[in-house]
Amino acid sequence: MIIGAEKSKKRIAVIGAGIAGVKAAKTLSKKLKNEAEIILIDKHSYHTMMTQLHEVAAGRVPFTNAQYDLQKLFAHQKNVQLLTDEVVGLDKTAKKITTKFNGVIAYDYVIVAIGGEPNDFGVPGVKTHGFTLWSMEDALKIKRHLEKTVEQAALEHDDDKRKALLNFVVAGSGFTGIEMIGELIDWRRVAAREYKLDESEFTLSVVEMMPTILNTLDRQDADKVVKYLTKHHVNLLLNHAITEVAADHIKIKDGADVPTHTLIWTTGVQGNTQATSYGLEKTERGQRLTANEYMEAVGFE
Ligand SMILES: Cc1cc2nc3c(=O)[nH]c(=O)nc-3n(C[C@H](O)[C@H](O)[C@H](O)COP(=O)(O)OP(=O)(O)OC[C@H]3O[C@@H](n4cnc5c(N)ncnc54)[C@H](O)[C@@H]3O)c2cc1C
Repeated sequence: MIIGAEKSKKRIAVIGAGIAGVKAAKTLSKKLKNEAEIILIDKHSYHTMMTQLHEVAAGRVPFTNAQYDLQKLFAHQKNVQLLTDEVVGLDKTAKKITTKFNGVIAYDYVIVAIGGEPNDFGVPGVKTHGFTLWSMEDALKIKRHLEKTVEQAALEHDDDKRKALLNFVVAGSGFTGIEMIGELIDWRRVAAREYKLDESEFTLSVVEMMPTILNTLDRQDADKVVKYLTKHHVNLLLNHAITEVAADHIKIKDGADVPTHTLIWTTGVQGNTQATSYGLEKTERGQRLTANEYMEAVGFE
């Protein structure tokens, strides 16, 4: 099936209703009121407020706090059509998008705004045993895992096994990792109280490959964070590279294995793998798409 456009109007397809796609659709809707119709396609019927995901993961806020219903967001943009579907292909020559459930959609212009994805840098076990924090599904997976693991620890009488269950590790000390560990500091208090555990039995750690944390930040500000984390008994394992993630431990380069059932991987993001199948020019290392100064795909200006 091809979802058709009104002949007199240009159709702009926006793939992805993250902050980029939503902003683009809103701006174009206003600017091109009578000249274009816009179709905004996303896998979800809601926009995810990514910047709150660590709060969802640690249970500080209900997941609904980080979801915005797209119908409501676009209630006043009559020239924006919403489609909940997954885009599985893009034919730039024929100007057609293939979706999983709604067939083919023809367009005149397309905006690819499908975001990025966590980069595991090829470290074995991250995908299978680690947790990432880059979508609502990720955040809810972490939340459920934290609850299950503490519940399990509360029933565990073997000291070593309980210690491993109560060891929570964040890999990476960028903003996402530090925000996540910050949430875990508060979560630890609540979880210990709820499960009648001693808070001192919990271990929280940040593993960072570099000698310092928050490396995009001014050093004075980063030092304040170090002070805060140390005060709240967070281990900072600096100059430590994780080489493997297993279900019950992580391996550290030139170091001993660290027993843990929870490794939250926040070491950085790369371009969405799916976008690399769209046949657009990629950066040298193939992780991101290249664009000109107008954010146009090279070769398809
Ligand atoms: C915990 C956390 C805290 C953060 N804090 C900050 C902060 O304080 N400041 C800041 O600037 N940034 C922050 N970021 C980063 C910021 O959230 C991202 O840079 C931003 O959300 C990227 O927006 P985007 O629209 O490009 O992509 P995304 O938000 O990833 O949106 C992409 C959309 O595309 C959809 N999609 C993907 N593939 C398909 C497909 N094939 N078909 C249909 N739909 C698809 C997805 O469902 C999603 O809705 C944070 C991120 C996290 C995780």
